Amino acid sequence: MDSAASSLKPASVIEGMTEVYEKHYSNIHRGVYFTSQKTTEKYDEAREKVREFINALSEKEIIFTRGTTEAINMTASAWGEKNINSYDTILLTKAEHHSNLVPWQQLAKRKGAKLEYVNITKEGDLDYEDFLNKISHKPKLFAVTLMSNALGNTYPVTQMIKEAHRNNVHVLVDAAQEIPHFPVDVQDMDCDFLAFSGHKMLGPTGIGVLYGKKDILEKMTPYQYGGDMILSVKLHETLFNELPCKLEAGTPPVVEAIGLGLAIDYIKKLGWTKIRKIEDQLTSRTLSLLNKMPDIELYGKRDMENRGGIISFNLKGIHPHDVGTILDEGGVAVRAGHHCAQPLMEELKQTATIRASFYIYNDLEDVMQLIEGIENTRRIFHVERPSLNAV
Ligand code: PMP
Repeated sequence: MDSAASSLKPASVIEGMTEVYEKHYSNIHRGVYFTSQKTTEKYDEAREKVREFINALSEKEIIFTRGTTEAINMTASAWGEKNINSYDTILLTKAEHHSNLVPWQQLAKRKGAKLEYVNITKEGDLDYEDFLNKISHKPKLFAVTLMSNALGNTYPVTQMIKEAHRNNVHVLVDAAQEIPHFPVDVQDMDCDFLAFSGHKMLGPTGIGVLYGKKDILEKMTPYQYGGDMILSVKLHETLFNELPCKLEAGTPPVVEAIGLGLAIDYIKKLGWTKIRKIEDQLTSRTLSLLNKMPDIELYGKRDMENRGGIISFNLKGIHPHDVGTILDEGGVAVRAGHHCAQPLMEELKQTATIRASFYIYNDLEDVMQLIEGIENTRRIFHVERPSLNAV
């Protein structure tokens, strides 16, 4: 139950990647020989699969990165260095993962720019009035997550982007948590940038995506230099390649990109209706069981509206790391900690929570195992079960 950290991988992804290594692996865009051409073809196919998956207009808008973190750092560096000045403001939210906070915080420090944060409510939602007020001050950029990785709350980002664009504000969307679980359409959302990782959506580690609108990416200075991002070099001058290569220096994660394409195939074959059904059933069952336990403190939304399959809680009087360790002894893997969202934890006045997160391979037996683990923790800590209708 820790898919919010990283997902398991289907056989089709593992075997598909092995097949590339065993049968036709070569570096891409280099060889005139068969294996290089074949690998290049598969790599290019993977980019097209990503484009279609998020409904981008062009493959030039799909930049392969190592993951969400690199995609956001790339934007902060290759777009931010050029576009953020000392008189500018960068608007974030207090619900952001460190990966969508620290790159902007550090850019703001370098530039002497101002950082502002949209407040959150007690239930972990974004304070919309506060957002409207802060966006009306016309920050240069608004960076926001689609789903809180610590709480599971989802945010009305499409509506916020409309408001941001009315104020001429660029928007970067962190889709790391949303994209494995809900359909994402960048044209419909109209975001300027969108970042996500392969490893949370059934794909391998070491591959992620930065989507950016073509006209914005065109104006970005390269993030790193070398390899396929170059068209020609003279001793004192270099001509850069076109998008997407311009922003992908060095040998790319070729097989990982192909693996991501295979993960997309898997998700498409399963279908969003089925994915939502599985996750909603597990989330709603777990919430209803935990809601009945007076010694469970739930963070984020307590109901099913505007949320994904992440549930954050604590067992009163017992440290989350102890709960996590005892759950692990019962074969239940949850995350206990600050979930790389320390400012959010501070708002909740917690140093850590237990986070259970679901994906397509979980079932109701897992939920019952979690509940048994909680009961077992109470027994070990000699805490009485507070309510008989707990399960
Ligand atoms: N943003 C969010 C919302 C996340 O949940 C994560 C991963 N926990 C990241 C960014 C960073 O992703 P990665 O470590 O794959 O770069």
